[in-house]
Amino acid sequence: MKDNNTIHALRIPFKIRAASNLIIERFVYVYLIFGERIYLIDSGFAGSEKVIYEYIKTQDRKPEEIAAIILTHSHPDHIGSAKSIKRTTNCKIYVHEAEAVWVEDTNRQFKERPVPDFHNLVEGSVSVDGFLQDGGFANLEEDLSLEIIHTPGHSEGSVSILYKNESTLFTGDCLIAPGDLPIYENIADVAESIHKLQKIDDIEFLLSSWESPIQGRSNISRRMTESLKYLNQIHQLILRISGAGPVEPMELCKLVIESLGLPPAAVNPLVAKGFASNLAYSGKIL
Ligand SMILES: [Zn+2]
Repeated sequence: MKDNNTIHALRIPFKIRAASNLIIERFVYVYLIFGERIYLIDSGFAGSEKVIYEYIKTQDRKPEEIAAIILTHSHPDHIGSAKSIKRTTNCKIYVHEAEAVWVEDTNRQFKERPVPDFHNLVEGSVSVDGFLQDGGFANLEEDLSLEIIHTPGHSEGSVSILYKNESTLFTGDCLIAPGDLPIYENIADVAESIHKLQKIDDIEFLLSSWESPIQGRSNISRRMTESLKYLNQIHQLILRISGAGPVEPMELCKLVIESLGLPPAAVNPLVAKGFASNLAYSGKIL
């Protein structure tokens, strides 16, 4: 899909082989910015480089023109093919400092955050060339400058990226759409990050990793509100269930996922960890 002449959205499907031969079908978006050279927002999972290179060729450009990958965060479906792309193109890799260790040491990431099928999703560790800082700019070319907005919550060093000249905001996994797997580390940070994004004016394109591009200010504003409402629904469920007495984290996760009508595969330690952060949060989400 082509959004405009500069930004191109690639939807790349993949499968996660979870426990008991359960196959989870997912997809992730990788975004390409075409300037004098080419810049990627995230790199997809291991093997995505083939899809990215093929697409670049259909646009009469060359994969060797990739100059940098800007990572919204370090999770497998975002960094998976970064190693291969850097090896082929010698591009630079940028990520928030809090995520760098998991990019540069993927075995450590797996030890600390054991995502099913991790080693099929991530090719391996890759060195980081620079850090993305809140309020900082990635000045890629004369007319191509990206503003970095630190939006923690989904992970500590998650960032959103504002491309002002194109009225475009890349949000990575920051916004959780209703019905999506609610994966986050810290609910207080997620709520604060979405509130921060709501204050940005003049956005015409919202480009997240887990859903199709959203165009138009009212649609974008609605999506952010829906995300907060969904998180608030989850928060209220957690408070209600835990209010009845102590409950084990995985049991709490199971009860909440069932109430939300999400598939049983959503009952997992990653989701349970996020829900535990709700128990410690006494602030508001909406
Ligand atoms: Zn993620």
